[in-house]
Amino acid sequence: CVRYFPSGSDAKIRVIVRIRPFLASEIKASGGNPIPCTFIPKPEGDRGQEVTLCIKDQETSRRECYKLDSCYGQDEDLASIFSREVRPIFPGLFQGINATVFAYGATGSGKTYTMQGANNQPGLMFLAMSEILSICERTGSSVKLSYYEVYLERCYDLLEPKMKEIMVLEDHNGQVQLKDLSQVPVNSMEEFSEIFANGVQRRKVGHTGLNDVSSRSHGVLMLSITAFDKGSGIPIVGKLNLIDLAGNEDNRRTCNEGIRLQESSKINKSLFALSNVIYALNCNEPRVPYRESKLTRILQDSLGRGSRAVMIACLNPSAYQEAVHTVSLAARSR
Ligand code: ADP
Ligand code: MG
Repeated sequence: CVRYFPSGSDAKIRVIVRIRPFLASEIKASGGNPIPCTFIPKPEGDRGQEVTLCIKDQETSRRECYKLDSCYGQDEDLASIFSREVRPIFPGLFQGINATVFAYGATGSGKTYTMQGANNQPGLMFLAMSEILSICERTGSSVKLSYYEVYLERCYDLLEPKMKEIMVLEDHNGQVQLKDLSQVPVNSMEEFSEIFANGVQRRKVGHTGLNDVSSRSHGVLMLSITAFDKGSGIPIVGKLNLIDLAGNEDNRRTCNEGIRLQESSKINKSLFALSNVIYALNCNEPRVPYRESKLTRILQDSLGRGSRAVMIACLNPSAYQEAVHTVSLAARSR
């Protein structure tokens, strides 16, 4: 595949990696001195430039190396990912250019931590909302929030107490619409925190009979911005999708049955569809297979073709096989 745009900040779909720190349990299990399965063979040049990331199996010394747009190591905080990868999206957003940022990786690799945050650590959703609110204040723009979940190829409104199912429709211009999805105006971080926390809670306890499907569904926070054209005063709408994707478990390695198998085959199908879409866009292929999953259908207007996207592949530094599974699919997307 020959990329038709230069790698770097102008790239339409960036594929980056975030490696989380070892957890206390992993440090203990390794006898106190864990060795990460990932390393970067050449010292890094400028940030934001292409890097090669290698993943090594400590037992067999087998290694695989992949080219990526950027890599954020264990001691790099979220603020630097935010300023290098997400902030550059904002000027376009206020000019009507849609964007998508998603976290991709196995369960336990740090997707929710990165997107949603945990233990009072803000995630990218929080940081993005906060900066968007302050830009809105400065420029007289406004922002509305939607939060929904895609589970087993169906879409549910998380801002609605009953988590009503949302139909995905296409109008006569081929524009995708999420029919009757809640859109709540937000004016302050206090408002956002409350609305969002309720949605997160619904995601955890929703779907009666099935406990916490949150790691097996895609959670999409959509921020719709209305700005005004400086010359004509005509309103312009830009959408930012921030997505905590379902875990990309390797079906060959987990012995799933019944609903779990159904879940995991739908998840894998939609994640594969997503990577096919990114691959087709980055390689300038004539046909982009948006229609192969619910998520890619929904994201048609925010992924490729005049919009911007960042895929954050999250890695657990102590899981070699899992890291290979994640990065090989992510790197294939480039
Ligand atoms: P996922 O959503 O991919 O299943 P989580 O975000 O829940 O993974 O992260 C798994 C565990 O690792 C959690 O205990 C989380 O607090 C911790 N963790 C993840 N990323 C980081 C990080 N960058 N720094 C510190 N702890 C992290
Ligand atoms: Mg999670």
